[in-house]
Amino acid sequence: MARIISIVNQKGGVGKTTTAVNLAAALGLRGKKTLLVDIDPQGNSTSGLGINKRGVKTSSYDLLTGSATARETILKTEFDQVWVLPSNIGLAGAEIELVDMEHRESRLKTGLAPVLEEYDYIFIDCPPSLGIITLNALCASDSLMVPIQCEFYALEGLSQLMATVRQVKRLYNPHIEIEGVLLTMYDGRLNLTQQVVEEVKRFFPRKVYSTVIPRNVRLSEAPSFGQPIQYFDKGSKGATAYAELAQEFEMFAKRG
Ligand code: ADP
Ligand code: MG
Repeated sequence: MARIISIVNQKGGVGKTTTAVNLAAALGLRGKKTLLVDIDPQGNSTSGLGINKRGVKTSSYDLLTGSATARETILKTEFDQVWVLPSNIGLAGAEIELVDMEHRESRLKTGLAPVLEEYDYIFIDCPPSLGIITLNALCASDSLMVPIQCEFYALEGLSQLMATVRQVKRLYNPHIEIEGVLLTMYDGRLNLTQQVVEEVKRFFPRKVYSTVIPRNVRLSEAPSFGQPIQYFDKGSKGATAYAELAQEFEMFAKRG
C-alpha cells in the first residue's frame, strides 16, 4: 500500500514543487515506486518531470471531476521508478466546479484508491491555496510535508494551515499527521536564517527534518530542462541534499 503524502504550504514559491520533483526522483533512485500527483494548475511538477503540459490529454482535472480514471491519467516519466499524474491549466476551473459536486472533498481519495497497491509512495504537489483542491489532497493523505522557506515571513500562514489540518482531521480524515517540516533555500551565512530555523523548530517541535535544502542555483535551473536535480546535476549541493532527505524520509516514514 502506498503511503500518501501531501506537500502543502499555501504560500507560493517556498519549494513545494522543487521538493515534490526531486524527492520523488531521489526515492525512485532508491528503488521505490513513486507517483507524483500534480494538482497545481501551473503544472510545474508535470513539466519538471519532462512532460509537455500542453500535450497532456487527461489530467488531474479529469480525475477530480470523474471523467477519467487514475490508470488512464498516469504517465511513466523517463526517470527511474517515477510516474506522474499530470496537471495543466485546465485544472484552474476545478476549484469552482467542485463546489457543487457530490463528495467534493474526497474525489481525489476515491480517484487514487484503485492504484494504491502499485506504488510505495504517492506525493501530491498542492497549489498555493487552501481551497477545495488542497482539501482533496489532505483528505486523501496519510500525512503532510510542509516546506518552509528560510525568510523573514516564514511562519506567516502556518497557523491557518494547521487550523485547516485540524479541521480535516476532525471532519474527514482522523489519521492525517505531520510527516515532516522541511527548511528550504537555506543560507547558513545569514543570521536571519538561524533565527527562522529556531522559530520553526519551536512551532513544530520534533517535526523538522535535520536535512535542510540549501539555496542552490542548479535546483532552479533543472526545471527548464525537465529534469530532477539528480539527473540534471548529480554532483550539485541540491542533489546531495535531496538524496539525504530521501534517506531521512524513509527512516521516519511509518508504513501503513
Ligand atoms: P512552490 O512550488 O512552493 O511555489 P517552487 O518549488 O516552484 O515553489 O520554488 C519557487 C522558485 O524557487 C522556483 O523558481 C524554484 O526553482 C526556486 N527554488 C526552489 N528551491 C530552491 C533552492 N533550494 N535553491 C534555489 N532555488 C530554489
Ligand atoms: Mg509549485
